[in-house]
Amino acid sequence: MPLKEIKPAKRTENITYAVRDIVVVANEVARTGKQMLYLNIGDPNLFDWEPPKHLIEETYKAMKKNYNGYAPSSGIKQAIEAIEKEAEKKGIKNVQDIFVTTGASEAIDICLTALVNEGENVLTPTPGYPLYTAIQSKLQTMENPYYLDENNGWQPNIDDIKNKINEKTRAIILINPNNPTGANSSPGTLKQIIELALEHNLVIFSDEIYDKLLMDGKKHTSIASLNSDVPVITFGGLSKNYMVPGFRIGWGIVSGDKTILKNYIEAINKLLRARLSANHPEQYAIAPALLGDQSHLEIAMKKLTSRRNLTVEMMNAVPGISCVEPEGAFYAFPSLHNVNNDAHWATELIKEKGVVIVPGSGFGQVPGTNHFRIVFLPPEEILEKAYKAIAEFHERYVEKFVNAEIR
Ligand code: PLP
Repeated sequence: MPLKEIKPAKRTENITYAVRDIVVVANEVARTGKQMLYLNIGDPNLFDWEPPKHLIEETYKAMKKNYNGYAPSSGIKQAIEAIEKEAEKKGIKNVQDIFVTTGASEAIDICLTALVNEGENVLTPTPGYPLYTAIQSKLQTMENPYYLDENNGWQPNIDDIKNKINEKTRAIILINPNNPTGANSSPGTLKQIIELALEHNLVIFSDEIYDKLLMDGKKHTSIASLNSDVPVITFGGLSKNYMVPGFRIGWGIVSGDKTILKNYIEAINKLLRARLSANHPEQYAIAPALLGDQSHLEIAMKKLTSRRNLTVEMMNAVPGISCVEPEGAFYAFPSLHNVNNDAHWATELIKEKGVVIVPGSGFGQVPGTNHFRIVFLPPEEILEKAYKAIAEFHERYVEKFVNAEIR
């Protein structure tokens, strides 16, 4: 009997992850020997960034003490206590549960899985981090994107959210500060989202993985700090603020009215138990990270601010490109005014200049708009070189593909 093709499950059909997908094109170009400039991955360790040393020492100590077995499903006690203190510092009221996960990614996956049924929907920020749409494809929920308003510093568009809520809407995702825009949500916007969540019985998923990476002295507001009844799961982790994405350590903090959350929390815990535990030795870095020396953040924010300034200045100097100033994280999301296919633009840029960015379509966009995401973690000399290349490329691209079409 001839062997039959192994067919993948339908639920994987719509899963894309643009941040890594673009690397396939980049690798092909790199093989030709072209010099590449990578501005596509939000991993500080690839550039001139180092995590605080005490995190590594504590993890190493834990390994040497042979804490190499499974951990409790919700995480080790000292880590949970440290996250509880962190929640208190963030002003989060009425905490009902805390759990440690394999990166915030796993917390996001588990919390969505425990909540949403096939055919229901979750309001998802657009543009936004593509993991959320990937998980929802897997769960076969309906897509319900809500738009962030570029003309209002990329704040969530409250009218759009109102219009998109329907009887099957179960939750709203907020990414604050946002990937890919770098926007920090204002307390006013957050209060309006709370009102809508209370009115329509929605759970709020607040992804605050970049909450300590704010520039210009801007303050971060945790949405869960503004109301003690509304059900919120606040996601955090060590990947960005503490620069150890490879540790794969994240967490979820559930807050809000205990009586309405009880069964949902139990469902989350069933899934946590089923996957045994998050990485064990690395959990010993959580308390030292959250409660220990934070001086790396000051150094990081100085460096990030000057890289952000260079990015915004050089991108806004290119005719046909404009860039809203990011307030946090390490991403910028410039708009391409005359381009009608940002994926094509990005592929041509890689081929011609070796500059790797992620096309905006990978994050979702307001229809008819085109963008690209820059990671401004690399040193200034690399950024400068890349931005000069983008400027030269863009002028030629518009002449070759846009003006030629018009003529
Ligand atoms: N949430 C956002 C908004 C992100 O940008 C990322 C990574 O880039 C993650 C979550 C993933 O976090 P972790 O490394 O903790 O899984």
